[in-house]
Amino acid sequence: MVTGRFAPSPSGRMHLGNVFAAMMAWLSVRSADGELLLRIEDLDPDRCRPEYAAQLREDLRWLGLDWDREGQAQSLRGEFYRQQLETLERQGLIYPCYCTRGELHAASAPHASDGTPIYAGTCRRLTEAERREKTKKPAWRLCVPDRVIGFDDLLQGHYEENLRQECGDFIVRRSDGVFAYQLAVVADDAAMGVTQVVRGRDLLGSTPRQIWLQQCLGLPTSEYLHVPLLLSPEGRRLSKRDRDLDLGLLRQRLRPEELLGVLAHAAGILEKPEPVSAAELACCYDRTLLRREDCVISEIFYKNF
Ligand SMILES: [Zn+2]
Repeated sequence: MVTGRFAPSPSGRMHLGNVFAAMMAWLSVRSADGELLLRIEDLDPDRCRPEYAAQLREDLRWLGLDWDREGQAQSLRGEFYRQQLETLERQGLIYPCYCTRGELHAASAPHASDGTPIYAGTCRRLTEAERREKTKKPAWRLCVPDRVIGFDDLLQGHYEENLRQECGDFIVRRSDGVFAYQLAVVADDAAMGVTQVVRGRDLLGSTPRQIWLQQCLGLPTSEYLHVPLLLSPEGRRLSKRDRDLDLGLLRQRLRPEELLGVLAHAAGILEKPEPVSAAELACCYDRTLLRREDCVISEIFYKNF
């Protein structure tokens, strides 16, 4: 049986793009008679709030996107993540990094396709004596191999990356003690029995890192399906910061069936943006209909808000 998940971050009200990703995860699981897990990804204490998590659950129910069980929220799982780090440490796979932001973002540093600097491995080469001299609290990085790690995405096709050359050793715990998203998501998905991950295409590039983490921790690799992103009429990615068509706004004007119809049309599932319930969509969902390319939300729809 397929087990999929919603894994929203309670850092604000869901926007149209978040609703789209949630609907796609729900459809992929429900159309296969699978099981859905909800997990609140509230690792970052500066950005996440419990009242947003409550609102998320309420918004998903309003949309008719139900779930079968809820996993423990990430903010409560520090001890579990510490154990995962220990597993990596025992294998000599992680090391402390004392680099400052300025050093990492130096103009001379090569940058990955997503704009983040590729880590050159500076602190990997420090001796024990050199580490003892440091006064700064370190971040922890995972060593990556100089080989290609690839996978076959259910929608985007084959994707691969040489982690050493295209990413560098990456952070699994920040210097302020917060566990990195990559570590938490991989450990939680495996512990909670998730076998299928459906999420936005912006996370396609972090999948090879997550597969490497799965290999280091001895965990199975799930299926992946990366859905297109929704773009504003000017071609900009929707974001919570810009308060792009958040669900508060959308709920004032639309019934859930109308909203799902617009999104299912954008996904390629419906020929016209006509009202449809989540249950009706699950019956006509067919993965081969899905479009791969990012989708611009029509000006007409946008102007109504
Ligand atoms: Zn460093």
